[in-house]
Amino acid sequence: MSPNPLQKYFRQPKLYVSLPSKGTYTAPGVVNGDPTQIPVYAMTGMDEILLKTPDALFNGESTVKVLQSCCATVTNGWEINAVDLDHLLIAIRIATYGNMMAVEHTCANCGTENEYDIDLGLLNEHFNHVTFDDTIDLGEITVKIRPLTYKEMTAFNLENYRLQKMLIQSAQNFDNPENQKTVNDLYKQVAELQNEVFIQSIESVEIPEAVVNQQAYIKEWITNSESELFEKIKERIETNRKNWKLPPVNSKCSNCGTATDLEITMDQASFFARK
Ligand SMILES: [Zn+2]
Repeated sequence: MSPNPLQKYFRQPKLYVSLPSKGTYTAPGVVNGDPTQIPVYAMTGMDEILLKTPDALFNGESTVKVLQSCCATVTNGWEINAVDLDHLLIAIRIATYGNMMAVEHTCANCGTENEYDIDLGLLNEHFNHVTFDDTIDLGEITVKIRPLTYKEMTAFNLENYRLQKMLIQSAQNFDNPENQKTVNDLYKQVAELQNEVFIQSIESVEIPEAVVNQQAYIKEWITNSESELFEKIKERIETNRKNWKLPPVNSKCSNCGTATDLEITMDQASFFARK
């Protein structure tokens, strides 16, 4: 077939963004080309439909497809990590609907329904000023941590959701001894899941004679360590998580002037709604 004469009317990149991590934690091949110059296109009609498909949204498939459609040099959206993902998603929304996003909030003091216009471009700048602190110095031992990939995060969320749902069901009839056992079992599974994610976040452990990166060895080491070590690593993971969250937007009620911190979440269903 000859080249499509309509090709020159195809969507063009609207902006270029850098992975906030500059690709430090991204496996080779996940981004094709320069990770600091990713072209971002507006969503197509198909992308918008994908984001309204509940099942595909829930299991992460929509996000991955939209990511690969709009950030064309991202060839494997599942492997994009937690510290880069939100920046790209916001850029996609900007490319599609522009910088401003209307956020509704009801004043806790007087009940006035306020609508605030949030500048996402400004908000997205946040990610260019945070670093992921990946080195934990424990004397002779140095622990390196890494952000989880979208695939790992999604797997964790789905499994956690499944367990929590079963917990609610079993807890409803707790007087039944059979259910008590199930609930205890489920709590154990939740704890194990959290522990697994924790171990996954540890990239390597450096000791004077070696660098250990086998998950099984690391797991065994954590299992046989004092809780203080666990707490130190957990604390750092938590600090990183907090730093990489979008800062709240300070705003005031138009009627009574009460100050509010607006939390902007990237819950896809509402974040990517046309408004
Ligand atoms: Zn008010």
